[in-house]
Amino acid sequence: MIQFTNVVKRYPGGHEALNNVSFDIAKGDMAFLTGHSGAGKSTLMKLIACIERPSSGQVVVNGHSLARLGRAQIPALRRQIGMIFQDHKLIAERSVFDNVALPLIIAGLHNATETARRVRAALDKVGLLGKEKLFPMMLSSGEQQRVGIARAVVNKPALLLADEPTGNLDPDLSAEVMGLFEQFNQVGVTVLIISHNLGLISRFQHRILNLEKGHLLTSTPIITETPPCA
Ligand code: ADP
Repeated sequence: MIQFTNVVKRYPGGHEALNNVSFDIAKGDMAFLTGHSGAGKSTLMKLIACIERPSSGQVVVNGHSLARLGRAQIPALRRQIGMIFQDHKLIAERSVFDNVALPLIIAGLHNATETARRVRAALDKVGLLGKEKLFPMMLSSGEQQRVGIARAVVNKPALLLADEPTGNLDPDLSAEVMGLFEQFNQVGVTVLIISHNLGLISRFQHRILNLEKGHLLTSTPIITETPPCA
């Protein structure tokens, strides 16, 4: 699903954010991406979503070689990717329904009945059915993040990319949100999550990609006999 081969990303000014990074995430896998601030995590995510292009090396996402992808093909690639952010980036003036419907409208779905069916299905998956008419400020931070996840999955993407999705949540809500990602993964969605929370991610038997100053140090599963934070 995601293949990086000798990827280098140099920003203008010569700063190398990623240095010769190679890894492979298979379709249906779930993995975490960790590393200190400035290690290159967001850059790696931006390359996957084709928000940035590599300076050299090859990035392949869901069979598309991004070097060969024309500008006109980028929206179709993005529709295969659901993105989730730490601050969820909900539109405050729009209802929960409108926030979740947004990717469908951008994708050109104009059928109101089908839009409502898909929005309700996405809200159901994150346990928020019935909250359609509320506005983001009327929800708890955990609920806001779940609306962000519903918006990310409403188009049924093949890949979910989450940038510190539990960064603003307490431990119980963080575990709940991670559980949702696992549920999507269990039905075949590939999931890559940026997280600093080693205690939380070591509870899951998923691969951990560790970036340090642009270098990928490990990409192996952590095997823990007893979860440290159980
Ligand atoms: P992380 O997400 O791990 O905090 P980033 O990918 O945001 O790291 O940044 C990696 C490095 O690239 C940092 O040194 C950062 O300052 C630099 N960087 C990120 N974006 C840009 C940009 N648009 N222009 C120049 N340098 C950037």
